[in-house]
Amino acid sequence: MSALPKNLGELRHGQWSEEKIAERSVRQELRENLVRKMEEGEPLFAGVHGYDDTVIPQIVNATLSRHHFILLGLRGQAKSRILRGLVGFLDTQVPFIAGCEIHDNPYRPLCRVCRDRIATEGDATPIAWLARDQRFVEKLATPDVTIADMIGDVDPIKAARTGKNLSDELTIHYGLLPRANRGIFAINELPDLAGKIQVGLFNIMQEGDVQIKGYPVRLALDVLLVFTANPEDYTARGKIITPLKDRIGSEIRTHYPATVAEGMSITAQESWTAREGKRRVAVPDYIREVVEEVAFQAREDKRVDRRSGVSQRLPISTLENVLSSAEQRAIRNRDSSIVARVSDIYSAIPSMTGKFELEYEGELRGAENIARELIRAAAGKTFSKYFANANFQAVIQWFEIGGELKIPAHASSAELLGQLKKIQGLFEHLEALGVRAKDDAAVQSSAAEFILEGLWAHKRINRSEERGFFAEARKGPEPRDPRENPGRAPRRQFN
Ligand SMILES: [Zn+2]
Repeated sequence: MSALPKNLGELRHGQWSEEKIAERSVRQELRENLVRKMEEGEPLFAGVHGYDDTVIPQIVNATLSRHHFILLGLRGQAKSRILRGLVGFLDTQVPFIAGCEIHDNPYRPLCRVCRDRIATEGDATPIAWLARDQRFVEKLATPDVTIADMIGDVDPIKAARTGKNLSDELTIHYGLLPRANRGIFAINELPDLAGKIQVGLFNIMQEGDVQIKGYPVRLALDVLLVFTANPEDYTARGKIITPLKDRIGSEIRTHYPATVAEGMSITAQESWTAREGKRRVAVPDYIREVVEEVAFQAREDKRVDRRSGVSQRLPISTLENVLSSAEQRAIRNRDSSIVARVSDIYSAIPSMTGKFELEYEGELRGAENIARELIRAAAGKTFSKYFANANFQAVIQWFEIGGELKIPAHASSAELLGQLKKIQGLFEHLEALGVRAKDDAAVQSSAAEFILEGLWAHKRINRSEERGFFAEARKGPEPRDPRENPGRAPRRQFN
């Protein structure tokens, strides 16, 4: 691109002429660029998965309608990412009057300073340029946010001294919203904003007139206002003033990934797994599935508070910690390559417990115990996917005739493989996990451990901290073979 115009006179000729941009609002700009992107088949929200048929079409409609809008969703549903992604629909740069705190449009300045300047300097008025990522302002709403923070403040003493009228813009210290002029202003957790500020926002959306300390101030700002909120807080009576709700053009609901596969692709994208260093550290697919399934189990669990939700950050940080646990073992054992195991998921519990809120029943049980139970359930479900029709009778029998296996947390792969190999019939099942006899010890032992974990999750064998894996205790006179007793439903089959 050739050099950008440096003053108002230069700006008048070319693509930023008065005719082209004087009346072009931010929302019109977003609309035009969105239309162009769609016509050219460009991706709209890079890196956002699972929203192609739900959230994204609604955001497109809101943008085409030039609406202010709100995303309603639980935590960890990519709301902030989507709002930041709107920056991609802005022009690469826009001109403003150099030095203006509120980035005045060169043809329609709001502030007195700029109007005075144009009156005296005319076409020589210097122009500066605003890049698109400077045009996104984000604020987390909290109850202590004030009108001064958000909209601005007036200084009555200064006004008196300079002999200006109190409503004169010269005496305003601009807050966040005016500074977002000609850009996008995102307010997260809108219901936490005090009613008084909501009124201020509404006034700006409505007329551009707002009262500061009782003085009327005209601020006809050009902004797209976008919000996020927890759906229950937003709909709770009295949390949002009705006229503000009325002015929000669209309410768009976000959601968690619909399938484990979708969740896994988000987690794979967002987690830091490309570790530097000389060791090859890998996380097998079945481990990634268990990690993702933990989040799905938690979202369904009655002991977990559904109103606050279970963030996608749970599987993301868990996966990172799973990998770190494997990495730690590799470094300590001086292994050149190591593969994450189910036990690494248990080691990652510290990255799970802060990611969900518990109901009373859950509180009694404790977050760590809940996490353990979620992992067990997730391992069981993942195991069922891979081994729906497998026969594990030989493995179970090995334990029933007294076999026990304790896996020390930091056992090297070779050590562990030696132990696992003693279990009859276990290794013939590894192929279902895509593991072959020629694969290295780390790959094989991780897969074998996963099978034992799955059998434990389905109560086919037992496991404890002290003993490791051992036989499931026989309960009373239960028949050895369900076929001996046709009147009774066979227990769940995995053999
Ligand atoms: Zn100005």
